[in-house]
Amino acid sequence: MKLSLITPVFNEQDNLPLLFDAVYKVMSSLNTSWELILVDDGSYDKSLSVLKEYAQNDLPHIRVISFRRNFGQTAAIAAGLDYAQGEIIVLLDADMQNDPADIPMMLAKLDEGYDLVSGWRKSRKDNAITRNFPSMVANGLISWVTGVHLHDYGCTLKAYRRDVLEGFRLYGEMHRFIPVYASSVGAKITEVQVNHHPRKFGKTKYGLERTIKVILDLFTVKFLVAYSSKPIYLFGGAGGLLMFIGFATMVYLLVRRLFFLVSVTGSPLFQVSAMLFTLGFQSILMGLIAELLVRTYHESQRKPTYTVRTMINLEHDPRD
Ligand code: UDP
Ligand code: MG
Repeated sequence: MKLSLITPVFNEQDNLPLLFDAVYKVMSSLNTSWELILVDDGSYDKSLSVLKEYAQNDLPHIRVISFRRNFGQTAAIAAGLDYAQGEIIVLLDADMQNDPADIPMMLAKLDEGYDLVSGWRKSRKDNAITRNFPSMVANGLISWVTGVHLHDYGCTLKAYRRDVLEGFRLYGEMHRFIPVYASSVGAKITEVQVNHHPRKFGKTKYGLERTIKVILDLFTVKFLVAYSSKPIYLFGGAGGLLMFIGFATMVYLLVRRLFFLVSVTGSPLFQVSAMLFTLGFQSILMGLIAELLVRTYHESQRKPTYTVRTMINLEHDPRD
């Protein structure tokens, strides 16, 4: 199987026929083997019966996973990834805000040698105040913090080479951070402008609160990507800095005591110094505990601490 399209579906009954039409139109022009995996995320409208109907009529192409309840878009995407068989994975929304007609252009980019092609909804057709503006701020922040420079993390329409998705689990709202993870395992990433349409049917499931979740997820992602195999560098670095400031303050107090006869314990700086020193020391100890956790994590799953692009004259898995 060459190509897997994955689509999360939550109450999109009226959009689905449009989606199927558009997907069939594009795929018939492409001449490759493909599947469309639709993940019904606990819809309570008629989405599931629409999906069943299409799946019965087109067995090899249309596959459906239906959740027992609503688990969220990221979980739906994760389920689709678990079952996808394609070498190339394309994610897109079911609401026809993304345009399946952009897919061939994205596949052509992958053929140029990229591992991930990210869609950018340059003229986005969503609410400016609750969606577009917060998302612009969030995108700027994510780019700056992670060093992976994309304009539009939130755009679902993205194409991936399968191997950059392996070994990665999705939690929270984290599907938008796949490029950050992919970049950390050495993927070549590029960005293309894609079409975006206003919703014709149904309504958006998100508002301003999503941006807050995304920013919280950013902390986790940054930590995992930058320090997950060396947490002591973060905890130890912060701890060392705090201890140093605490120590320097104490030296200042002692010098003041010796030469200017100012009482050490009478100054609030004394408490501050003691607190900084203790906190710093605690932080280093936490870093050591985190180091133990990291070892358990990697060794229990026999996860290597590196990723390989190709191997020459080597076949066996060192873990066997
Ligand atoms: N979606 C989902 N589960 C949810 C929320 C959304 O599967 O809990 C799907 C939804 O059906 C759509 C996609 O995720 O296909 C994007 O959702 P939406 O259009 O509401 O987001 P927006 O485009 O406004 O960011
Ligand atoms: Mg949408």
